[in-house]
Amino acid sequence: MIIVLRIGSPEPEIQQVVDAVKKFGYEPKLIRGVERTVVACVGDERNHHTLESLIVLPQVETVTPVQKKYKLVSRQFQRHDTVIDVAGRKIGGNSFHVVAGPCSVENREQTLETAKAVKAYGATLFRGGAFKPRTSPYDFQGLGRAGLELLKEARAATGLPIVTEVMSPMDVEMVAECADVLQIGARNAQNIPLLALAAASGKPILLKRGISGLVDEWLLAAEYICVHGNNQVILCERGIRTFEQAYRNTLDLSAVAVAKKETHLPVFVDPSHAAGRADMIIPLARAAVAVGADGLLVEVHPDPATALSDGGQQLTPAQFAQLMAELKPLVEVMGKKLG
Ligand code: PEP
Ligand code: MN
Repeated sequence: MIIVLRIGSPEPEIQQVVDAVKKFGYEPKLIRGVERTVVACVGDERNHHTLESLIVLPQVETVTPVQKKYKLVSRQFQRHDTVIDVAGRKIGGNSFHVVAGPCSVENREQTLETAKAVKAYGATLFRGGAFKPRTSPYDFQGLGRAGLELLKEARAATGLPIVTEVMSPMDVEMVAECADVLQIGARNAQNIPLLALAAASGKPILLKRGISGLVDEWLLAAEYICVHGNNQVILCERGIRTFEQAYRNTLDLSAVAVAKKETHLPVFVDPSHAAGRADMIIPLARAAVAVGADGLLVEVHPDPATALSDGGQQLTPAQFAQLMAELKPLVEVMGKKLG
């Protein structure tokens, strides 16, 4: 932390700051300029009492951290890419995986038909929501436990591991019993008890970025999972809320580049929730590959016009086939292998 004192602070007030810094376990180093004094505080901010509260002292003008708050997820902590094993699929490193499936598990036929189709076209994991975090309480809320049973059937029929969302800490045990990867959705991106319990399940976790989440907040949410003993985290950028209304959210590819640089975790892109429009999925997916993403999460439905949620953004199986065909050479150009 760097503490800048107000111009002309008298010696006793400088000393008061020095004493407070020592009390919190840091070593204060004074830099005395012509007009003002700066106190550089040496010590690991992540393990000590925060100095930020010193801003309340009248002689303190600013208190600025110089260290990132996250540690376990950072490249400084681990230089090599984390590779996560999901039922034999290696996520991260030099592979590129596509998680595909419907927004919601609606019924047996729709679920099995989609799982078989996405597998045939090259998806390596199957997604589908049994618990749906809908904006309106009047919209389809998901099949819940019955949906999990259908996901198990889809896995048995195709061999594809299951990615499905857990919305509540109370449901972690039940969802983890079915899921190969637990998804934590954008609306729950900072639900600390959920992050902690999901981590404790020992399952890999696909962590979406919050709807208006800062990159720092996203990475600190991942840090929570790691702090609870689980470093199998897949970060997923799914678009953020901006002023733009031409599409549902704004896909923040810069965040993918930053997350790849700052962390050792695999980073996926969800163009479906970013765009909210089926016609934008392929171009955004191409861009995701080019920016260095490690995989995609894409919504696919046998008949999007009848979907119970997110119909406008789901690809038909034929459109999904086209997406996969277009991705293959791009993935290779990026030095990765599909699946
Ligand atoms: C989803 O994946 O179906 C979903 C609800 O995503 P998000 O949390 O990104 O809105
Ligand atoms: Mn959806």
